[in-house]
Amino acid sequence: MQRILLVEDSLIIGKSIKKRIENELSQEVVWLTSYCETETNLNHDASHYTLGLIDLYLPDAKQFEIVDLVNSYHIPIIVFTSEYNDKIREYIWSKHVVDYIIKTGEFQIDYLVSMVHRILTNSGIKILIVDDSPIVRKSIQALLKIYNYTLFEAENGQKAIELLDHHSDIKIVLTDYDMPQMDGFQLIEYIRALYKKHELPVIGMSSQGKKTMSARFIKTGANDFIEKPFVSEELYCRINQQLELIDYIEKIKDISNKDYLTGLYNRRYLFEAGGSWLNSLKEQTDTLTIALLDIDFFKSINDTYGHDAGDLVLKQLSRVLISFLNGHSIVSRFGGEEFCIVIKGKTPHECMQLFENIRHHIECLEITVNKHIAFRISVSIGICSTIMDTLDEMIKIADTMLYTAKNSGRNRVVARI
Ligand code: GH3
Ligand code: MG
Ligand code: MG
Repeated sequence: MQRILLVEDSLIIGKSIKKRIENELSQEVVWLTSYCETETNLNHDASHYTLGLIDLYLPDAKQFEIVDLVNSYHIPIIVFTSEYNDKIREYIWSKHVVDYIIKTGEFQIDYLVSMVHRILTNSGIKILIVDDSPIVRKSIQALLKIYNYTLFEAENGQKAIELLDHHSDIKIVLTDYDMPQMDGFQLIEYIRALYKKHELPVIGMSSQGKKTMSARFIKTGANDFIEKPFVSEELYCRINQQLELIDYIEKIKDISNKDYLTGLYNRRYLFEAGGSWLNSLKEQTDTLTIALLDIDFFKSINDTYGHDAGDLVLKQLSRVLISFLNGHSIVSRFGGEEFCIVIKGKTPHECMQLFENIRHHIECLEITVNKHIAFRISVSIGICSTIMDTLDEMIKIADTMLYTAKNSGRNRVVARI
């Protein structure tokens, strides 16, 4: 049970922050309005606070004492401040806060929500720091630890490659230019031969202060460049920018590969991924099965209970399919009320049994709409386990089997093995 601590004396701001975070991030927010209240609350139970969102200036703690209080419980902090000058800035960073938000004008609540989301998910993000200076590596580590990242370090390009080989889930690389054995440019060239810019972002770092350095880094394949020494704030911003970019690309990939209503893969993805599964079959004994599943008399469900009820059936059926099928399968929405499933690594008879179980499960399922109207559905399934040259040919055979299932009474499985 994770909770977020919010200390804010302004009722309007406090209320809107609590609401947005609870609604958008499904995180419980404990909202307190004074130093005193916070002290009592933390004293009572400070566990499960993953983050503190703290108003710097409180009526009962005008010297920013709230920061030290929350810090003493080792809770990472984002502060809000309505006043911002060099003195406050220096104070904030000396306390190793995660970030600050200025409360002037339009409160940057969108930025806050995205920042909170980022910190809650950061521990799963692995960052590799490559620099020959142990002091630099240590100082960057100290800065990034506050952000909850999982960190790795290497003293040159060669060592970095070894780490990347062992940890293929490293998300971002920060690299110096001038290093013994293998410099930053050589490392980037190696990385770019394997990963595109959005697959593994690289941020170049150099203290040489040469104006041409940033362009050279980027031309070699870095996503961004930062000059040493940098202020911690700039490092955070640049890393966040790359992470956001990766997130957007993941979202776009999801949108292009998945069906909006059911969240299953779409037809485009089925042909792409299923086709490459079929092409990768090597041995005579390797198996691949295609199943086409179609809801019986679905039109009459729409006609009787309405289109929304029909949508609900599609969603419920999708969940059933996902619960029966594991990672060695592609479950896709093929068309309106038709689903196509590709399975590898199971014998034709195992597949036949599996789809018979699915058919039976669906037959027994009671679907409830508008709280009190309940009805049942059935599906017909056509299966092809005969390996053909293309996925399309196998789907055509499965479709013929499905046609036979429909014509011989529906609610049944017909297979060509
Ligand atoms: P059969 O047993 O022969 O398959 O009969 P059927 O009624 O299921 O087949 P038919 O192809 O005649 O009708 C399919 C219906 O599916 C028609 C269409 O309006 C409906 N449909 C397609 N996509 C959706 C959708 O996204 N939502 C809803 N609610 N209905 C959809
Ligand atoms: Mg149908
Ligand atoms: Mg149909």
